[in-house]
Amino acid sequence: MEKEKAFYERLEGKGVSRRDFMKFCTFLTATMGLSSSFVPKVAEVFAAPAQRPPVIYLHFGECTGCTESLIRSMYPWIDELVLEILSIEYHETIMAAAGRQAEEQLQHAANQYKGKFICVVEGAIATKFDGGYGKIGGRTFLEIAQDIIPKAAGVICNGSCSSFGNIPAANPNPGGYKGVGEVMGIKTVNIAGCPPNGINFVGTVVNYLLLGKLPALDDLGRPVWAYGKTIHDQCPRRAHFENEEFVEQFGSEEAAMGYCLYKVGCRGPETYNNCPVAKFNDGTSWPVEAGAPCIGCSEPKFWDKFTPFYEEL
Ligand code: SF4
Ligand code: SF4
Repeated sequence: MEKEKAFYERLEGKGVSRRDFMKFCTFLTATMGLSSSFVPKVAEVFAAPAQRPPVIYLHFGECTGCTESLIRSMYPWIDELVLEILSIEYHETIMAAAGRQAEEQLQHAANQYKGKFICVVEGAIATKFDGGYGKIGGRTFLEIAQDIIPKAAGVICNGSCSSFGNIPAANPNPGGYKGVGEVMGIKTVNIAGCPPNGINFVGTVVNYLLLGKLPALDDLGRPVWAYGKTIHDQCPRRAHFENEEFVEQFGSEEAAMGYCLYKVGCRGPETYNNCPVAKFNDGTSWPVEAGAPCIGCSEPKFWDKFTPFYEEL
């Protein structure tokens, strides 16, 4: 009780009421596909965590958009919640340490929590070094991955680059970039997206803390609760697709009427993700709702497979 009281006081100190927090927990529970009876338990995971798994968060070849998506845009206070349920031992974007001190912290955390920490990876790993691609502190991405990842209890790939290689691996891929699972020959939990919705990362971690196991994954390692259906199958414009009512030009009357975006390049029929349900920025909107076709960012090789964008498949 004391723990919970202190948690709510901390949230209130940040201008977040208990009501706002419960609204978030209700939304998260529903997005995870759990019944509403789980809402108090989900709240408890944050307010009185029984355990805070240590996390080492590695950055390789990426733009840091996945971290930005997670800690900044969804709820202004989501970073606080993530810090409540996880013990972040190393994260280059948010840690105070730099240079040699940061490298020492990485080694210290990996040894101290060997076999117990969750390794979260953002970014693809370069496998060709002639051009000097991908080094941190004098070590290649591959050397860092081979040093740290085998010591982890499990690996979560945050974003399509670490999951599948994605943009760093797009043709002609001079650095030989690949996803973490492929490079290391291991199974990873893949929170796909460019960037992924922060709720998909948080929901996966909460699922683990709540039920003591990872959620069911599809054959690409993506949690089924988030990536089990296509955008097309959840899209509010679907009736227009069935009626063959299409936008053929941006800015047209058909666009203003919210017609289907298939003919201006929507990849929703081939893309598995929960954007129509989870939405972005505190549930405000999502690309198709805002009139932009889905570009298929949660699918492997989406850049090579789906470009040129804005043209019918
Ligand atoms: S806008 Fe895209 S996802 Fe929505 S119905 Fe049309 S093709 Fe499908
Ligand atoms: S609508 Fe499509 S491109 Fe946009 S975030 Fe969702 S899956 Fe990615």
